[in-house]
Amino acid sequence: MLRIGITGGIGSGKTTVCAIFSTLGIPIYNSDERAKKIMVENQSVVNKLKAQFGSTIYFEDGSINRVLLSQIVFNDKEQLTKLNEIVHPAVFEDMIKWYAQNQNHKYVLQEAAIMYESGSYKMLDKTILVYADQEIRIERVMKRDKVDRIAVLARMDKQMPESEKLKLADFVIYNNGESLIDQVMKLHHTILELV
Ligand code: ATP
Repeated sequence: MLRIGITGGIGSGKTTVCAIFSTLGIPIYNSDERAKKIMVENQSVVNKLKAQFGSTIYFEDGSINRVLLSQIVFNDKEQLTKLNEIVHPAVFEDMIKWYAQNQNHKYVLQEAAIMYESGSYKMLDKTILVYADQEIRIERVMKRDKVDRIAVLARMDKQMPESEKLKLADFVIYNNGESLIDQVMKLHHTILELV
């Protein structure tokens, strides 16, 4: 089984591309979604987060106050490191189990917004970068999240420039208006030939 990473800057179209791979029966591990789930369902993680950030980061119904947590970590590197130190090992453990459950597949995809930044790409066999021009990404995210340009730029500012990611990627899917289905089909066959 090949482990293939799929990444790209905010609004590049990772989720959209993964949805196409999913129709081909390829299992997708979405690291950000799994982390969100773990932060609510894994009691040991919940306890550590409450101890670190205060119990107010959880609502009474057990869901997480993402706005408050983002405010705490967005501009505070130390707090962000603490958050990652609590959540990342639990996600890693979850991911290992998931790989074991899916080992009968020829390849699986692991989707994450930060992959080159975190170094997690080194554990993968290949990586795919979904690439779209910055202006297109800004427009798409403004529309999707109903936020202004400044808010999108602030999030983009935290990510590695796409030019750097292009150097590290094994495969690139362009999403400036090119056909995603054609590119995914072609790449699917290329990956199958590597297995
Ligand atoms: P994020 O990192 O912010 O989660 P993402 O990389 O997963 O983003 P998507 O959510 O797939 O990106 O795409 C961003 C937005 O752009 C979505 O609203 C999606 O529907 C839209 N979008 C993606 N690709 C295209 C396309 N080719 N044409 C038009 N809209 C698109």
